[in-house]
Amino acid sequence: MSGILSGKKIVIMGVANKRSLAYGCFQALEEQGAEIILTYQNDRMLKSLNRFIDEGITKIPCDVSKPENVQTAFDQIHEQVGNIDGLIHAIAYADPEDLQGETTDASLESFNKAQSISVYSLISVAKYGRQIMNEGGSIVTLTYMGSERAIPNYNIMGIAKAGLEASVRYLARDLASQNIRVNAISAGAVKTLAVTGVKDYSKLIELSNERAVNGVGVTIQEVGNTAAFLMSDLSTGLDGDTIYVDKGTHLI
Ligand code: NAD
Repeated sequence: MSGILSGKKIVIMGVANKRSLAYGCFQALEEQGAEIILTYQNDRMLKSLNRFIDEGITKIPCDVSKPENVQTAFDQIHEQVGNIDGLIHAIAYADPEDLQGETTDASLESFNKAQSISVYSLISVAKYGRQIMNEGGSIVTLTYMGSERAIPNYNIMGIAKAGLEASVRYLARDLASQNIRVNAISAGAVKTLAVTGVKDYSKLIELSNERAVNGVGVTIQEVGNTAAFLMSDLSTGLDGDTIYVDKGTHLI
C-alpha cells in the first residue's frame, strides 16, 4: 500500500491488545504503507497478538526489564528484516500498589522498577535501535500530562513520565549526529490495560474527556495518526519535543 511511510521499516513495542495505544499506531502506520515489526513482552502477550495480528507480521520477544534482552531483540530484528527506519516505544509499568494513595508510600524498589521499565527502557531501546537504524530515522515514545501536573493516584508514574520527557530531549541531542529524531506524544487518557492499574482510573479518564475542548476524548487512531506523521519525513522539523495529542485537555 502506498502512503507517507512506504518503504519504511518500523518497530512498534507495546501492543498488548486492540485497546493499546501501540495498536492505534500499528493500524495508522500500516495504512500509510510501513512494514511493521512488533515486539512483545512475554508469551502471554504473543498469544494475545496472534488473535488479531496477521501471521505475516514479524514478532520478536523483548522484555525491556533487562538491557541484554533489548540488545538480543534488535540483533534478531536486524537478522530478520535488516536495517530499520523508526521505532515506537509504548511501554510503561508501575506496581498497582504504587498507583494509589500517596507518593511517599512508594518503596525505593518499586520506584526503581517504574523508572527502569518506563524510562531506562527508552534509553536502551535508543542505544540498540540506533545501531540498526538508517539515517533520517525517527523514535517516538508515549507520555502523559501526569509528568507536569499532580494527577491523583498517578504518583510515581508521573515522576517516571517527567524523566521520560527529559530523556527524549537528551536522546534527540545525542542521536542528531546520526540524523535520527526523538519525540514524545503526550496522549489524553484512554482506557487501556495499563490505565486500569491506576486506582479510580475511570475518574482519570472522565476528567481527561471532560476537559477535552469538545468534551470528547482522544482515540487510539488519533494517537496513531500523529505517530505516523512523526515517523514520516513530513515531520523532519520536529525533534526533542513532546507533542500533545489529547484534544486540548492540557489547555483547560
Ligand atoms: P497497554 O497496557 O496497552 O500497553 C502497555 C505495554 O507495555 C504492554 O504491551 C506491555 O506488555 C508493555 N510492557 C510493560 N512492561 C514491559 C516490559 N517489562 N517489557 C516489555 N513490555 C512491557 O497500555 P497503553 O496505555 O497503550 O500504554 C502504552 C504507553 O502509552 C505507556 O507508556 C503509557 O504510559 C502511555 N500512555 C497511556 C495513556 C492512556 O491513557 N492509556 C495516556 C498517555 C500515555
